[in-house]
Parts: sequence; structure tokens; C-alpha cells
Amino acid sequence: MTQLKSVKGIYKPGSTHMVGDGFPVRNIFPSQNLTEEISPFLLLDYAGPASFPPTNQRLGVGEHPHRGFETVTIVYQGKVAHRDSAGNGGTIGPGDVQWMTAASGVVHEELHEQAWAKEGGTLQMIQLWVNLPRSLKMSAPRYQTVLNKDIPQSNLGGQGGVLRVIAGEYEGQQGPAKTFTPVHLYDLKLAGGHQAELHLPIGYNTGLFVLSGGLVLNGSQKVGEAEMALCDPQGTQVDLEATGETRVLVLSGEPILEPVARMGPFVMNTEEELVQAVNDYRAGRMGRLE
Ligand code: MN
Repeated sequence: MTQLKSVKGIYKPGSTHMVGDGFPVRNIFPSQNLTEEISPFLLLDYAGPASFPPTNQRLGVGEHPHRGFETVTIVYQGKVAHRDSAGNGGTIGPGDVQWMTAASGVVHEELHEQAWAKEGGTLQMIQLWVNLPRSLKMSAPRYQTVLNKDIPQSNLGGQGGVLRVIAGEYEGQQGPAKTFTPVHLYDLKLAGGHQAELHLPIGYNTGLFVLSGGLVLNGSQKVGEAEMALCDPQGTQVDLEATGETRVLVLSGEPILEPVARMGPFVMNTEEELVQAVNDYRAGRMGRLE
């Protein structure tokens, strides 16, 4: 039986701030007190679209730690290079995704890729943080490069709609990114005026973030550029209509029902664990960049 997921709120982005010297981002959450309702997701920063002139400088965020969760970087325009203390690294470009599991701790850097920076261009990307349950926060770090060509896609609502499965599954198609708790992450491209039904699981927290264009949800609710609609966990379907050429990131996941303690780059369950994280980082126990 089809039941529409109602829209619980439309969240507008905060003002732009710089992350390091390379990523001008607008935060959608956790600012605006959006926390439990969007668990297991912890943070969504939308970077750009912003134009960078040619440079030989290494712009971005230098060496910094993370513990207790995963950082997921989705590039739409531009190129980003990553390197971490677990010995992993890689470059991702348009359509690619980097899924970095910090877990017990890594130190990494996130920079504009050198050759791309020399040419200059437009950067547009999203960084999403995905929580880990208590039982996995201190497990080993992991790194997945998910390339554009390996992300399956299918039509959504016929021609004029494309759904790419980054993680989880959609109607039998499996996304390449492995997750620790149930998460669906989809990249949607919709032509102007296109209508489609999007099926989503009952009980999952779900956000629809519009990068460009606009949506009308369930026949009445408008979501504009750089805004996110939060959907009710109840219900199995959202009706979409694109008001123009539209790009949407759909994040949907089973909530992790545990206390969340945050401090900067660390997300644990208790304050004591945060203190431990700071001490471990300072003592070099999260490793160093070679
Ligand atoms: Mn980072």
C-alpha cells in the first residue's frame, strides 16, 4: 500500500563560511538543530559552486584528524585529492565519491587536485558525515574510492529522470559503496517538468537536498536551490516534480539511536570519549601523514 511520506520541514542553508582555504561551504545540518531527525547523518556541507582562478597553491584543508564516523565526499564539478595516515589516498572528479571511514581515527588532508588547480575552474561538492554505532567507532579505518563509471543508474519515472545508486539499493540495483548500517544514497538528475515517484523505506530518516533547480514534493511543497526537505520516516513514497533542470542528493538511513557527543572533528557517544580522542590525536595515536 502506498503511503506518501509527508514533508516535516524545509531547511535553508546557512551563510557561506570557508573550510580551510579551499572550500566555501554552506551548512545544512547540524546547524538549525537538525540532529536526531536526520540520524545516522551528522553533517551536510554544500561547497560552491564557486569559481577558482588558476593557482600553484595547494588550497583545501591541511592535516586534521577524525574519529567515530565516516566522511563522504561527492564531487559534482572540480577535482579533490585526499591522503590519510592509514596510507590511503586518491583523486576524485565529477560523478565520483570518496567514502572515508575514520572509525578509530585517521589524520588526513583534503585539497584541490594539483593539475586541476593549475587550470582553475568551478568547484561543486558535498561533504556528508555518516555516524557509526558505538560498536564500530573504534574499528579499523577504511577507504573507498567510488568512481562515476561504477555507480549504476536507471531511469526514474521514465525518460527525463536518472537515479544513480551510490550506496544501498534502489529497486534491485546495488550501489558500490559499502556501509556499516543501512544507508541509501542516491544522486538524481531530473529534466524540467519531469515527474516521478521515489520509493523509500519506512522508518528511515530521509533528506532530499536540492543542489540546483527546484522540486515540488507531494504536489504542494516547494524546495529551492541549496535547500533540504526533511521527510517523515513513516510512509513509503515521495512524489517529485522538477521545476527546472534539477540535481538532488537523496540521503536515507536507519537512525542510530545512541547518544551523540561531538567536538569538532570527533563524534563519539560520551564526553569522556571526546577527551580520549583529543589525547590520542595529540599523542600521535591516530597516525601522521607521511
Ligand atoms: Mn576531513
